[in-house]
Amino acid sequence: MLTLSDSFGRVATDLRVSLTDRCNLRCSYCMPPEGLEWLPKPDLLTADEIVRLVTVGVERLGITEVRYTGGEPLLRRELVEIVARTSALRPTPQVSLTTNGIGLARLAAPLAEAGLHRVNVSLDTLDRETFKRLAHRDRLADVLDGMAAADAAGLRPVKVNTVLMRGINDHEAVALLHYCLERGYELRFIEQMPLDAQHGWRRENMVTADEILARLRDSFDLTDDDPVERGSAPAELFLVGGGPARVGVIGSVTRPFCGACDRVRITADGQVRNCLFATDESDLRAALRSGAGDDEIAERWLAAVKIKKAGHGIDDPAFLQPSRPMSAIGG
Ligand code: SAM
Ligand code: SF4
Repeated sequence: MLTLSDSFGRVATDLRVSLTDRCNLRCSYCMPPEGLEWLPKPDLLTADEIVRLVTVGVERLGITEVRYTGGEPLLRRELVEIVARTSALRPTPQVSLTTNGIGLARLAAPLAEAGLHRVNVSLDTLDRETFKRLAHRDRLADVLDGMAAADAAGLRPVKVNTVLMRGINDHEAVALLHYCLERGYELRFIEQMPLDAQHGWRRENMVTADEILARLRDSFDLTDDDPVERGSAPAELFLVGGGPARVGVIGSVTRPFCGACDRVRITADGQVRNCLFATDESDLRAALRSGAGDDEIAERWLAAVKIKKAGHGIDDPAFLQPSRPMSAIGG
């Protein structure tokens, strides 16, 4: 089988597919309170187009993991169908979902039945008022119910993503970890990245991986999980109280892992992106819609990955934030 390799010897096997740029929350590190101008419906890939690209990736290009994201992927009406068709591919990829959890209470069981393996649910606070301030919607209870439903449906361990923001929710790191440990969820803290549509990110406001670990260590005994096993995984994992429970820290900015990156992304409008921070994209939708065969699509995709840059360059003085915000790239 061909592989999606770049000029630095990295091979992309982990595909992130954005199913929509729309969302029912307005997390301030991602979207402005008034929302964004959504992609016009005809620009979005149809369910058939999504499955076609994923099939080419899995059957011809060595993709072994497919993660659906957005925007909010649970807003995509055909989600269960897309998951079912993905998990029916051979060789069977790992199929997962990154979601804000709203609607998961209803969808967790059908998704598990359709072959979904795992979910990552984003949860930044356990306090209703803080949630309203941070996400501009009063939906904390729905998120917590969604996580419980995912656990009950066997999508275990439920992974939880948390972005800490100084002065807003950074005092909750320990409480969030207690909450997750009690329920058997696996928590990962993610450094805030410059991907908000409002361009409000400031390095000095970012809660760094070092700070997060120092806070956690005040309350928990953390030991390095086997670093050899980290491989291309962005999270540095730590055993809590000697294990087996674990917590992860994703230091995308201060501890970049670009050298081991194995990801490639497809946006909701069918553009290949090699990185969250890429400034260029390659259009697979145009190829699909002009009647290209699978060979041609595979060729275009291979060429797109070949030119992947060495790193995201956030630390470079010439760094330019990508023009698409996180919600439109697919986090
Ligand atoms: N709506 C879904 C959700 O919130 O999980 C999926 C899309 S969201 C863009 C994917 C992940 O990106 C979430 O865990 C979210 O917390 C994270 N995220 C969004 N903006 C971010 C930023 N500026 N820095 C770091 N993580 C961010
Ligand atoms: Fe929506 Fe996810 Fe962005 Fe929050 S992080 S606004 S839930 S897409």
